[in-house]
Amino acid sequence: MASCSIPLSVGVVGAGIVGLSIALELQRRGHQVTVIDRDTPMLGCSSGNAGYLSEANIFPPAAPDMLMKLPKLMLDSDGPLVIKPTYAPQMMSWGWHALAAVKGDVRASITRTLAALTTGAYEAILDLASHANAGHLLSRDGGLVAFKNRDALEAKCASLPVFQNYGIAVDRLDAAEIHEFEPALAKDIVGGLMFRNSGRCSNPRQLGLLYAEHLQGNGARLLQDSIESVDPAEGGGAWLRGSKERLRFDRVVVCAGFWSKELLRPYVSRIPLASERGYHLMLPKPGVRLRRPVVFGEPHFAATPMDEGLRLAGTAEFASADAPPNVERATMLLRLAQQYLTGLDGQDGQPWMGVRPSLPDGLPAVGVVPAHPTIQYAFGHAHNGLTLSAVTAKLVASQIEGAGPHAHSSSLDLHRFQQGFARAA
Ligand SMILES: Cc1cc2nc3c(=O)[nH]c(=O)nc-3n(C[C@H](O)[C@H](O)[C@H](O)COP(=O)(O)OP(=O)(O)OC[C@H]3O[C@@H](n4cnc5c(N)ncnc54)[C@H](O)[C@@H]3O)c2cc1C
Repeated sequence: MASCSIPLSVGVVGAGIVGLSIALELQRRGHQVTVIDRDTPMLGCSSGNAGYLSEANIFPPAAPDMLMKLPKLMLDSDGPLVIKPTYAPQMMSWGWHALAAVKGDVRASITRTLAALTTGAYEAILDLASHANAGHLLSRDGGLVAFKNRDALEAKCASLPVFQNYGIAVDRLDAAEIHEFEPALAKDIVGGLMFRNSGRCSNPRQLGLLYAEHLQGNGARLLQDSIESVDPAEGGGAWLRGSKERLRFDRVVVCAGFWSKELLRPYVSRIPLASERGYHLMLPKPGVRLRRPVVFGEPHFAATPMDEGLRLAGTAEFASADAPPNVERATMLLRLAQQYLTGLDGQDGQPWMGVRPSLPDGLPAVGVVPAHPTIQYAFGHAHNGLTLSAVTAKLVASQIEGAGPHAHSSSLDLHRFQQGFARAA
């Protein structure tokens, strides 16, 4: 990896997987990095995700057929999607932009960008993780989607040409084939899809902790402080004002997940970022064995084999980030998963909730504050934050090194929301 001729000091706000990946990439390019988080590293959304390095998530969250199903979906308390009535007013802007992203040409453009980002993602994360001696946590045995219902399988298979068009390796499997891949699946699974190049992380929290250890071991500072504002500095650079101290850097990168919106409010108005909470149930003694992530097609959540057992994870609950978790959203995962994995044992299951930073087109926000180019941002990765962490790190690093707009700037810049996706289309 070539190092930059002029080392810069960079302050990174947020020690989730996005911030730590950016810090690691910058450090290996020769920059002096400081990571600041109000908590210890990897306590946010990044710690409890499904560990699925997925090539399948290439579509915006709203789809034309989903809009028709929305009322029914929202009335089903065991359903994959819940919008808390008290949160609905804060979803107006998100919803408006999500609808705009349903339009054919905009949807195609978003899908193309997401596909371009995800197809290089496994190589990128393996490269970065190996650099931090964490490559052993990653493996690439594909990812499955399993269906019980033939109509649901057919509906999913309608997207096969789109995946193939964007170079995503996917096969349709019949019942015998899917059971050959995963013998633990219930006998009434009728078939599914195999995403051959998808992978998994067997311990997402440990991945980030190894990044943090490597960073510190090689001279980076990791500070615990709550950042209250980000300000351009006179004469160049930028300030991070925390509750304990004020620090000046050549560049700062805001990667504070859902909370990035607050820090960027003085510079970018009306960021349609929503709190899309997800749940997991960690099963230490599941009594069944899977070899790879399996998404259950109808309830739409994943079961991933991990170092500590089997993790059932997913679903979307749009609700205030600081509202108490609804533990029933985690425990219902067991009830639903038992329909797909006969003999699944839920004893000692541990529930968890995390706040996905969700943007309405499914693309993250990775760019530069226009009037203050020393302030950059990378957040809003929603369902793809682990998968896209290293790809994002490369985009940010190239921008910091003055290589000009990165390859996907017009699609990932926050300005797309001010311009009604005009630049993404
Ligand atoms: C149930 C579930 C399953 C998922 N499964 C997958 C999956 O299989 N694959 C995948 O790719 N993605 C998955 N995701 C999504 C992925 O976990 C997220 O996209 C990713 O973790 C976002 O990372 P982040 O670093 O942006 O945010 P976070 O992990 O939330 O980190 C943000 C950090 O910023 C800090 N912070 C916030 N404000 C401040 C402040 N003012 N000052 C200092 N620090 C601050 C926080 O403390 C936090 O540590 C899943 C998410 C959930 C909830």
